[in-house]
Amino acid sequence: MEFPSKILENAVKSISTLPGIGKKTALRLALHLIYDQNGKAELLSQSLIDLKSKINFCSSCHTISDEYLCHICTSQSRNKKVICVVESVRDLLAIEDTGQFSGMYHVLGGVISPLDGIGPEELNIDSLISRIQLGYVEELIMALSPTIEGDTTIFYITRKLNQPDLRISTIARGVSFGGDLEYADEITLGRSILSRVPYAGND
Ligand SMILES: [Zn+2]
Repeated sequence: MEFPSKILENAVKSISTLPGIGKKTALRLALHLIYDQNGKAELLSQSLIDLKSKINFCSSCHTISDEYLCHICTSQSRNKKVICVVESVRDLLAIEDTGQFSGMYHVLGGVISPLDGIGPEELNIDSLISRIQLGYVEELIMALSPTIEGDTTIFYITRKLNQPDLRISTIARGVSFGGDLEYADEITLGRSILSRVPYAGND
């Protein structure tokens, strides 16, 4: 594409680096912002700067939060005896959207994947173990993707915890997640949380 302006070209280039946005959409967005009279570009750039410079993570569950502890961790109405372990904030939000889970969460930040250079140290596993060692958690729900990496991560955490009294369950595998947890529809995902199955370990 021949751009009439280097500035426009740069904007299109950087917008199209975002996931799911091709060059055509990027051009449409850039032109929209050029002609907008309501200060959209200024608002957008400020919120993007805030997003990178001010965003915080909950010190307990590691989800995105503006406070030291997130609204789930500080809620009085959530069941603190159950922790749902997820890979990402997106997965947490997907499960929250189902409205079927009223316990707590722990965001790992990924799964163990030696090929990608992700070991247990790269993930929020130690802080999960510290939370469980406080003694009030009775069940861990492992809502990780049904892959070798997901299974390895569950196995690693279970071994590291070594707490026979702690119930560990995985979300039902009979349902199709379409690859990723975040793409599962709300009803399927909600149902799979309710019909979770006890983790059978390595046997
Ligand atoms: Zn939290």
